[in-house]
Order: sequence, then C-alpha cells, then structure tokens
Amino acid sequence: MGITWIPGAERLGDGDIGGGMDTPEEPPRIVWHTTEGGAGDAEFDSTADYLIEIGAEPHVLYDPTTDRIGQFGPLDESARALRNDGDDRTNRTGRVCIQVEVLARASEPFTDYWRPGPNFAALLDAARSWGVPDAWPAGDLAADGAGYTSRDSDTWHSEGGHYGHANVPGNDHWDPGAVDRSAILAAGPGDAPAAADDEPGASSGAAEVSLANVVAAAGSDPDAPQGATSHRDDVLVVERALQAEGLLSAEWVDGSFGTSTQDAYAEWQSRCGYEGDDADGVPGRTSLEKLGAEHGFRVAG
Ligand SMILES: [Zn+2]
Repeated sequence: MGITWIPGAERLGDGDIGGGMDTPEEPPRIVWHTTEGGAGDAEFDSTADYLIEIGAEPHVLYDPTTDRIGQFGPLDESARALRNDGDDRTNRTGRVCIQVEVLARASEPFTDYWRPGPNFAALLDAARSWGVPDAWPAGDLAADGAGYTSRDSDTWHSEGGHYGHANVPGNDHWDPGAVDRSAILAAGPGDAPAAADDEPGASSGAAEVSLANVVAAAGSDPDAPQGATSHRDDVLVVERALQAEGLLSAEWVDGSFGTSTQDAYAEWQSRCGYEGDDADGVPGRTSLEKLGAEHGFRVAG
C-alpha cells in the first residue's frame, strides 16, 4: 500500500474524483500535464475551481514557481485528466495512474525556470511509494504541437514510469512540452532539488532546513500565542516530515513549533534511540539529519 494523500498537500474539492482502477495488475505510472496558463496563488485557486467545475480533475495541482501543491483525490483511484482510447479507459490504467497538472505552458518547459522544493519531493515520494519507477518508457516529449511522441498502447499498458500527456494513447494533447525529464526524476526525495536558479537565501522552499532556526522556534513558539510562527519555512519542512512519519496530524502542520510538534519530534527522537533529556522534542543535528535523509531535506547550520 502506498501513500494515498500526499503529506502537506492542500485538499481541493470534495476528495471524490474517480473510482477503482480497471487494470490494477498493470504497472504504476504518473502522467504530467500543463494547464496552459500562468502560475501564482490566484491562478492556482482559479485553476483548481475551474478543473472541478468542468469535471476534469487531475490528482494533483502543482505550482512550479512556488512549490505549492494541492490534491483533488486519492492516488489509488482514477482521476479525470485523460481521454479514453476507444473503450480503453486510460485514466484507469495500472496500479496507479497519478495525474499531475503543472501551472505552466507546454511551449515554455517549466523545468527551465522552476524551483522544486519539499512539496515536489513529497509528490515524487508518493509516486515511488506505489512503485512508479524512475523512467520515461515512452521516450521523448514534444517541443511543439507538431512534434512526434510515442503514444504506443503496448508501452502504455506494459511499462510503468513517467509519461507526458503527449505519450498517452487515444489523446491528442502535447503537454507538458519538452521538459527536462531527468531533472524531474532528480528532484525527488534524497536528491538535491534541481532548481534552475540556485540563489542562496532565496525563499524558494528549497529543501534545506536551518538547525538554528528550528531550535529557536522550538524555544519560542510553545509559549507564544497558539499558531504563532517564528521560522515558519524551516518548521513546515520538519512538520511535513513528522506528518509523513505518522507522528503529527495535519492540523498541526502549520509552521509553528508548538507543543504538538515538540511531542511529535520527541517521538522521532525516541525512534532514533534517544531517551530522557535527549528525547525532549528540541531537535538536535543527528536526529534532524536522519529525518531529512528520509524525507528529502538537508540540514544547514
Ligand atoms: Zn494534459
């Protein structure tokens, strides 16, 4: 059993977008799309509403400029982003058929300018949890609407991995464009995020956590008003990892290192073999690096 709801993803709509897979004995896959519009929060919100309104929900909506992620339905059920291939219901092919709409245009490959962060890593982690291999079995993606891509039905049914909408039989869209296929695979957990523009200190949500900031937050947030944040970005990354470990419920993944987060972190320290004062819920370097190694972030000073 894999991850059905991506830790830290916003829930979009009522969570009910499809049903069971037709061919769960076939290998798992993830399919990439672009929305053919802009990015940013307003676009994210209006696109989510639009996809719900027209009944064309993917599983996931992703903003490559902010690392914002939302999810419409569970990954182990079908979504609604593909056309059928005759009687062949492509949305329901495989163990999973995870559809991702990226807020971008196929004519401007999003991997040229994106800033993948912890949410993108969490998406790839979820795909891998279903056994989706790090491969693009249909090969090249199209650089324009006239470009040739393989939409071979045998490949689609027999091979798991990453597909573009441009690779799905019975469909005629050419999204997501000529994105860098290896950069997408390399932005998964445990790997350095393949940010196109690596300015230090930019608020990109790059998967790096400051130990000093997290320790400071653990010192000040519990006594501050409920939900107060002092180092929100760092704390959120840690909280998402604790949530993925099953130690912290979603309501406390809020960027505030309050008592619930401290309790969860103390549990993590216990799992790491610490006892007593060493498992007090205030992060130390070793336990934080261990959490980062499992959940795709690095620890800085
Ligand atoms: Zn598409």
